Amino acid sequence: MPHKKIIAANWKMNKGLVEAQKFVEEIKSYLEMNPGIDCEIILCPPFISLDTVYKNTKGTDVKLGAQNVFYENNGAYTGEVSCSMLKSCGCKYVIAGHSERRQYFGETSDIVNKKVLKILDEGLKPILCVGETLAEHQDHLTEAVIEEQLKVCLNHVYKEQINKVVIAYEPVWAIGTGKNATPHQAETVHNFIRKKIKKMFDEESSADIKILYGGSVTPLNAKELFTPETINGGLVGGASLDENKFIEIINAANKNLVNP
Ligand code: PEP
Repeated sequence: MPHKKIIAANWKMNKGLVEAQKFVEEIKSYLEMNPGIDCEIILCPPFISLDTVYKNTKGTDVKLGAQNVFYENNGAYTGEVSCSMLKSCGCKYVIAGHSERRQYFGETSDIVNKKVLKILDEGLKPILCVGETLAEHQDHLTEAVIEEQLKVCLNHVYKEQINKVVIAYEPVWAIGTGKNATPHQAETVHNFIRKKIKKMFDEESSADIKILYGGSVTPLNAKELFTPETINGGLVGGASLDENKFIEIINAANKNLVNP
């Protein structure tokens, strides 16, 4: 029996309040008109729209996620936002370790680990991003890179907590490039991640953990990418900015569930 897929939208630094509201209204009316949709939908807008997206999705199954967080509780950290602040806006998920944060903001796996631990301690769910760069991919280092990222980012996570973690396999070479991994490539890496989770935690955790694929998911490739059972859904960047494309991706994931 296939699991319900998770479709998460990462808007990155896009959409102000008005656009966010409009998007949410479209999604809401789509879900009202299509009660058979059985995907977990997570919207990760910029911080400034968290509150409005939360208020406008109340009463629906749409969940709210943040794109980032700082691991301290409060204090003199200008520009940063804490887990308790995110909870006060209705957040349930937080993206941690996105490759853009690693690339442009110097986030190391050690920093990502502090964030993951704090997110879990605060009762939120991390969407932990892992993935290799193009050079690493070409040098056949994918597994070595992912193994190291998992080892460091999940350091000190307890066995009881790992089922709260969602992993997103996001090959850096596929993000925003229009070059998605093939379903077979993604499936192979997802299976590798499950093998490592089994080694680090246990067999049950490895079977239960939700692993998303991210990297140039579009309405055209979504159904195929979500077909392997080990791929539990997608983290969608560019295509999540357009409500029609995002709806088509939700549809593709849902069809996949109903008619695998
Ligand atoms: C992302 O940024 O998480 C992502 C997957 O982006 P895109 O879908 O645009 O490749």
